[in-house]
Amino acid sequence: NLPYADGDFLAFESLLSDKERSRLAEIRTWLDAEVRPNAIGWWNEGVFPKGIIPKLAELDVVSPIRRQGYSNLFAGIVHSEFTRADTSIATFMGVHDGLFTGSIEALASKEQQEEWLPDIYSFRRIGAFGLTEPLGGSDVAGGTRTTARRDGGNWILNGAKRWIGNATFSDWVVIYARDVEDNQVKGFMVDTTLPGYSATRIENKIALRSVENADIVLDNVVVSDDFHLKGANSFRDTNKVLKVTRLSVGWQAVGQQMAAFDVARRYAVERQQFGRPLASFQLVQQQLVQILGNAMSSMGMMVRLSQLEDLGQAKDEHSALAKAFTTARMRESVAAGRNILGGNGIVTDYEMAKIFSDAEAIYSYEGTQEINTLVAGRAITGIAAFV
Ligand code: FAD
Repeated sequence: NLPYADGDFLAFESLLSDKERSRLAEIRTWLDAEVRPNAIGWWNEGVFPKGIIPKLAELDVVSPIRRQGYSNLFAGIVHSEFTRADTSIATFMGVHDGLFTGSIEALASKEQQEEWLPDIYSFRRIGAFGLTEPLGGSDVAGGTRTTARRDGGNWILNGAKRWIGNATFSDWVVIYARDVEDNQVKGFMVDTTLPGYSATRIENKIALRSVENADIVLDNVVVSDDFHLKGANSFRDTNKVLKVTRLSVGWQAVGQQMAAFDVARRYAVERQQFGRPLASFQLVQQQLVQILGNAMSSMGMMVRLSQLEDLGQAKDEHSALAKAFTTARMRESVAAGRNILGGNGIVTDYEMAKIFSDAEAIYSYEGTQEINTLVAGRAITGIAAFV
């Protein structure tokens, strides 16, 4: 047994309540049994393991803050633990719970929420979040070209979305589209069986191979006004969802580094060269300590940000700084981890290659490292440097 076996080197988990700590232990045990041992197989196969969905339903993990009354800090640490076990499963949850459920909880009317949320919380219906477009990525606020045209009691949607996680099998997808009349971006709950809707899987990814991302086409899809999210009437509204989900991506960057730490440390202690464990060489210890230091500084930032969110004081620029900082540390950490495994670091059998590759998706989604840097830069200079 290695010292600091759980990796909670700076005892951040002592900030949780007793109830939260025991729930975290339960979730960790579940992840260790159901996810981590299977994740390499799922990744190599490149298919989302749908059999995990009823088990996630049983674990009852959707909407821990709003529905179950847990703190943002608890939700963040849980999300980091999901990532530590497998980034693809964490991303599935990030889409269904964070982006999709988050859109409904933040932007749907009370009546809409009462009708939809029970099926969403219990995974009877799976969701996706359609914002990014083939021609509108970083500039999605100005670059949303998908249109919504009011037609009596309906809306007609036309356009294309790209990279939409879960959309190959989801029952619903929240589509953000520009109203041709007032030019504002609005949100719609779209049933994926509607005529004119199609989703094609994006193949050959080198990261998050068991997440199914899709190109969506909307060809005159007719959506009743009852499915227009009543509080989603401008990009400012969409941003309310992104502010919170960016926070969970920062926690993913923590979990990714903890996974790299777990694998690199175990390997360094077990693998012998020159008649001694790799971990006995000073240069190897230095790299392990770099990973741990990066992970702990990322976690310290995320702990504070989650506390600010609990106090209602977290701002866009706070989550942007955290996303930019933690993902930069994550890239250093997974590179050091991969290096410690030598050649075995590039085959997925040893887990590290998966951790290393998946980090690239975290680096780019929910606003790239550069875009989040510019959001923070604007906040401290008063000057927008996007264009
Ligand atoms: P681009 O915007 O084309 O950027 C390319 C490069 O140019 C980046 O390095 C970027 O930082 C840089 N760049 C762009 N503008 C500037 C600037 N002004 N200054 C400096 N540098 C700049 N979207 C969804 O809506 N739903 C999802 O479920 C979803 N899941 C995803 C899952 C994965 C695995 C991936 C990879 C993406 C996902 N996305 C999703 C989309 C994601 O949010 C976008 O990929 C991301 O915002 C970047 O957009 P882009 O890929 O079009 O890159």
